Amino acid sequence: MKLDAKVLRYMSAEDFRVLTAAEMGSKNHEVVPSTLITQIAQLRHGGSHKILSELARRNLVAKVQHIKYDGYRLTYGGYDYLALKTFCHRNSVYSVGNQIGVGKESDIYIVANEEERQMVLKIQRLGRVSFRTIKSKRDYLKNRKSASWMYMSKLAAMKEYAFMKVLHENGFPVPEPIDQSRHCIVMELIDAFPLRQITEVANPGKLYSSLMNLIVKLASYGLIHGDFNEFNILIRDNGEAVLIDFPQMISIDHPNAEYYFNRDVECIRVFFKRRFQYESLLYPKFKLDTERQFDLDVQVAASGFTKKQQQELEKFQEEEQKLAEELGEDAYKDSDDGEEESDEEEESEEESEDEEEDAQGSEEMPAIGKLSLANLSQ
Ligand code: ADP
Ligand code: MG
Repeated sequence: MKLDAKVLRYMSAEDFRVLTAAEMGSKNHEVVPSTLITQIAQLRHGGSHKILSELARRNLVAKVQHIKYDGYRLTYGGYDYLALKTFCHRNSVYSVGNQIGVGKESDIYIVANEEERQMVLKIQRLGRVSFRTIKSKRDYLKNRKSASWMYMSKLAAMKEYAFMKVLHENGFPVPEPIDQSRHCIVMELIDAFPLRQITEVANPGKLYSSLMNLIVKLASYGLIHGDFNEFNILIRDNGEAVLIDFPQMISIDHPNAEYYFNRDVECIRVFFKRRFQYESLLYPKFKLDTERQFDLDVQVAASGFTKKQQQELEKFQEEEQKLAEELGEDAYKDSDDGEEESDEEEESEEESEDEEEDAQGSEEMPAIGKLSLANLSQ
């Protein structure tokens, strides 16, 4: 599923009203009855059915035959549109540029505001693992509403934004968070390469210690990154490291804190040994080196991302992780081959019951050039 910025150009005020009605209806209905959408949208001259068909044709909603009634479901495409529209209204985003990354759980684009400041748009796409797994999916979905993928993506974006904000305010080397809506966040574009792509550094020992110090400093502020690896560490030309990607961050009071802390440390040790043939006897140990001095975890909870939301998201992430392990892959491990993408598309063709996913998975990937979203702010 890619962001189809092209469709954004051709939205009328009425289209937007109907799409918004579909989103509102989906808070209480997995499949939103067409009649309810009509009722919420309150178009002056009627015609919401025609607009719904048109929105479905553009993959912003998907038509679903429900047992009792016919209705629609908001797709990721529609959800993307609504988030972009909100960013536009708030003057945080004006144009969408190229896609720079496809993670297993997110899509990353360059965007710009009206002053042409370039930024990064990160769109959370949770549920890609279950997406790919047709066989196990049937049973798996019985216990879960598919609409919750969108909700979970929103929680992941809220979480990432909340953590980034608190870290940034406390002087940690992370991108400046700019805005958040639904499953999307906008943040500062860091002019740097992921450590993964760096084959040589002037002083590996120095970089190694600065990364280990960062893990320890985070812990002393009450936090563990949880995915501290070569994909999530960007290195600037001057050698400085910038940390990204926070949806799996946890408090040092978490029952599995020690496990995640050690895993973060181990990731760096293994990488430095393999890539730079650098090994050190010195590395942080959970019991010796983590002395809590500040409570950023508490600050995050106070910022609006609640403990309950954190638990909900964590439960979902654990389920996805378990499912991925059953399938022999790691849901939360980054990779830089593009193969997952094509698998996802092929397999989605085999589905016939999950209309929403069909609409997403089989969609042609549009080339996205520079595109003005000026009409969104009208
Ligand atoms: P995922 O959750 O899919 O792993 P990440 O947040 O790690 O998503 O982003 C994926 C990739 O996108 C990163 O490895 C990095 O190359 C690029 N990226 C993400 N955020 C930024 C940013 N703020 N500035 C520059 N590049 C970024
Ligand atoms: Mg990442």
